[in-house]
Amino acid sequence: MQKKLVTDPIVETISLKAPWKLVEIFSTMPRWQPKDVNKGADVIVKMLRQQGVPVTIHKPSIYLSIPFGAEVRIAGGVIAAKPPAYSRDCRRGIEGELVYVPATYSKSVGTLFAKTQEDPSLSARARLAGKIVVSEGFAFPGKMLEFEQKGAIASIAVNPGADIHWGICTSIWGTPDLDDLPRKPGIPVVAVNNADGRELIARAKTGSRASVVTTMEEGWYQQKVPVVEIRGQREPEKFVLVHGHYDSWDVGVGDNATGNATLLELARVFWKHRKSLRRSVRIAWWPGHSTGRYAGSTWYADAFAIDLDENCVAQVNCDSPGCRWATVFKDVSWMPETEAYVKSAIKAVTGLDSQGERPHRAGDYAFNNIGISSFFMLSSTMPDALRAEKGYYTVGGCGGNIAWHTEHDLIDIADKDLLLRDIKVYAQAVLGIANAKILPFDWTAATKEFAETVERYQKAAGSAFDLGPAKQAIQELDRAVRRFRRAVQAGKIDADQANAVIMGLARILVPINSTREARFRHDPAVPIPPLPTLSVADDIRAMPKELMGFAQTQLARGQNRVVAAMRGAIQLIATAT
Ligand SMILES: [Zn+2]
Repeated sequence: MQKKLVTDPIVETISLKAPWKLVEIFSTMPRWQPKDVNKGADVIVKMLRQQGVPVTIHKPSIYLSIPFGAEVRIAGGVIAAKPPAYSRDCRRGIEGELVYVPATYSKSVGTLFAKTQEDPSLSARARLAGKIVVSEGFAFPGKMLEFEQKGAIASIAVNPGADIHWGICTSIWGTPDLDDLPRKPGIPVVAVNNADGRELIARAKTGSRASVVTTMEEGWYQQKVPVVEIRGQREPEKFVLVHGHYDSWDVGVGDNATGNATLLELARVFWKHRKSLRRSVRIAWWPGHSTGRYAGSTWYADAFAIDLDENCVAQVNCDSPGCRWATVFKDVSWMPETEAYVKSAIKAVTGLDSQGERPHRAGDYAFNNIGISSFFMLSSTMPDALRAEKGYYTVGGCGGNIAWHTEHDLIDIADKDLLLRDIKVYAQAVLGIANAKILPFDWTAATKEFAETVERYQKAAGSAFDLGPAKQAIQELDRAVRRFRRAVQAGKIDADQANAVIMGLARILVPINSTREARFRHDPAVPIPPLPTLSVADDIRAMPKELMGFAQTQLARGQNRVVAAMRGAIQLIATAT
C-alpha cells in the first residue's frame, strides 16, 4: 500500500506577495552586464532584510565574457547576430569562405546539448580549415570546439526560429584554471536567426565569402553572491544547499527571475519557522551563470569545498520554475538515489506524477566533483502536445517557452498560479530533507542504474572488452546497499551513522557516475554519459582497427576506477553494518 502523501504545514504558509514583487522588479532590470548583475543582488538583499532574514554577501572576483554585439557582413549587406559569451572578440571582422555543415535540431531537451548530429564525413578537417562554418543549432560548446579543432576560423550557429538566442560557447566550467585555459574558444562565434541562416546556408553552397564581426569584453569582475544560512536545531552543521542564478540574459523573467523569487520566499518561510528545522538550509543566488558558465556557483564550490564535502547533504538547483503553460513535471533533473523521494514531494504538493532524467552537465551543477546528491534544475515544463501545437522547438529553460534567452523573456512568461505551486514543491522537497531523521535517498536505485549501464556498455563493446569485473563489483555493492537499507529500516543502525553512510556514498558514487575529472576539479560543460570512465565502450566496435588497443587501455583504466569506487562504497557500508 502506498504511504499517504502529506505536505509539510510550512508549505501552506507560502505566499506570492514578496516573490511576485521580485519578479516584477526584475522584469524591467537587465542583469547581464557585471554592474547590473550586482544591482540585482542588491534588490534580493534588500528584500531579504526587509523581511528580517540575515544574509551574507560574498564578493569574489570571477572571470566573465560579456557579449555586446555581432553581425555578419555578406555581399554588401549586414545580417543581425548575437555573439555567445566566450566568443573571441573580433571587432574588425574576420573574412572567409562559408562552408555548410548540416545538423538537425534537437527534438527534446535530452539531446539539446549533444555535440553534433551531422554526418562526420562532412565535417572533415580539410573541408573546414580556414573557413567560416555555418551550421544549424545553438552555439553550444561541444560543436563549436569541434569546428575550431578542425580549423574553422569562425562559426555561425543558425538558430531554429525567428529570434536569436543568447548563450555561451565555452566548455570550460566556471573560471578557468591553467589546465582549462587551452580549451578557451579561440574563434569568433555568432548566432543568427533561422531565415537569415537559411540565406547563409544557400550562399555557402555557392562558395560565397562573408565577414563575422563580434564585440566582446572579457576579464575579472567582482560580483556579489548573497547567501542565507538558516541554522537547524539538531544538526546545524549539516545543510541542504538550495540555489539558482540571478544574472540572466536581458531581464530574464522565466530564466531566472521566477527562480530568484522562489528562493526569496523559501528564505522567508524557513527563517520564520527556523525553530522547526532539524538541519540547516543554505540558500544562494549566483552571478556569472550566463557570462561565466556558472562561474558564481563554481566559485562557491571551490571556496567552500571542504565545508560542502563534510556537511552538505543535498544540493537543489532552481532554474525557470513557474513559467507560463508549464503544467507538467517532465524531464525533471534528478540523480537515481533522489528520484523516488522527489517524485513523492511533487506528488504530495501537486497530485501529479512526474518523469525525470539524468541531470545535464549544465545549470549550476557545480558540485558533482565533490559528490553531492542532487535534484531539480529545470522542474515544471509545457506538455509536449502543447509545444507541438505551437510549433515550438526545444529550448533549455523557461518551461519550454521559446522566449528563453531572448529579449522576449518578459513578465508574461511567468505564471502566478504555477509559480505558487512550484515554490511549494521546492519548499516541500527541501523541508523533507532538512527534517528527515534518516536522509531519504535510496542507493539501491543507483546500483540498479549502474548495473543497467554496464549491461548496455557490455552489449555495445561485445567481445572487444570484458566488463565482467565492473559488473561483479556493482552486484556486490548492490547486495551491501540492500543489507544496509534493511538494517536501517529495522532500526539496527543509529541515525547519525546511517546518515554518515548515505552522505559518504554520495561522495563516492556521484563522482563515478557523473565525472571523469578528479574530485574538486570541474568536468567540461559537454554531455557526460553515465559511468563516464566506461563510456568509450559505446564506440569501441566502430573504431578504426589501429585505435582498438588504445581504446581497450582506456577502458581498462576506466574499469579500475569503477571497481575501486564500488569497493570503497562497500567498505563504507561495512563500517555501519
Ligand atoms: Zn537558467
